[in-house]
Amino acid sequence: MTNRTPLIAGNWKMFKTCPEAIETAAQLVKLLAGAREDIDVMIAPSFTALAPVSDVIKGSCVSLGAQNIFWEAQGAFTGEISPAMLVSAGCKYVIIGHSERRQYFNETDETVNKRIQAAVNNNLIPVMCVGESEKERESKNTFSVLDKQVKKGLEEFSPDDLERLVIAYEPVWAIGTGKTATSDQAQEAHQFLRSVFEKSFGNTLAKSIRILYGGSVKPNNIAELMAMPDVDGALVGGASLDPETFSNIVQFKR
Ligand code: PEP
Repeated sequence: MTNRTPLIAGNWKMFKTCPEAIETAAQLVKLLAGAREDIDVMIAPSFTALAPVSDVIKGSCVSLGAQNIFWEAQGAFTGEISPAMLVSAGCKYVIIGHSERRQYFNETDETVNKRIQAAVNNNLIPVMCVGESEKERESKNTFSVLDKQVKKGLEEFSPDDLERLVIAYEPVWAIGTGKTATSDQAQEAHQFLRSVFEKSFGNTLAKSIRILYGGSVKPNNIAELMAMPDVDGALVGGASLDPETFSNIVQFKR
């Protein structure tokens, strides 16, 4: 038994206009009214929908997250979004280093590190994504990839800095593909990640850090994943877009 509060987070990616996001968030709030309180819930809409969705979820069990953050406070950085902008829009969480950012936008462990620093400095909870590609898994490099992503992404941080950090283990081959890691594969990777934290940051942080699984999570596989001792929640992409489906994931049967 641990005292880690599970977190179920929805990544809406580049889907939903403002009116669609507002409607989805409103339906979700309704569906989750009276849901159990021992789970944290977060949704991450597009930047343009953050502030209006923040108004809709106010006072509910749903918190707001962003999908990215820039590390500078302000300046001539056209197209970027600052930590203060996210805070003022109502964000509590920010997803950092998603594999789609790494794959399509040249995100590296070094830029992930800077973004996490910006989140920590601004009291935002970073949800740091790590995960191996299919090729890396096939060549038995999963653990070395995860080890490098954590060590480089969190270089120079102290355990105190990382008290609220959330890790999302998202095997790239399982994202948006319908291929879910088996619960044993997820547990093996999560256990390994916890051991990396133990070696790098000590036992206290390793025990308290929440490690989410992400990759084709659906209402029919969430319970099995959550039954694993080192799985502390889920980062859900496609299945978070429909409020009923996402609410069924949040309210999975134990
Ligand atoms: C994600 O976007 O983080 C994700 C896990 O996507 P999906 O659930 O669609 O695989």
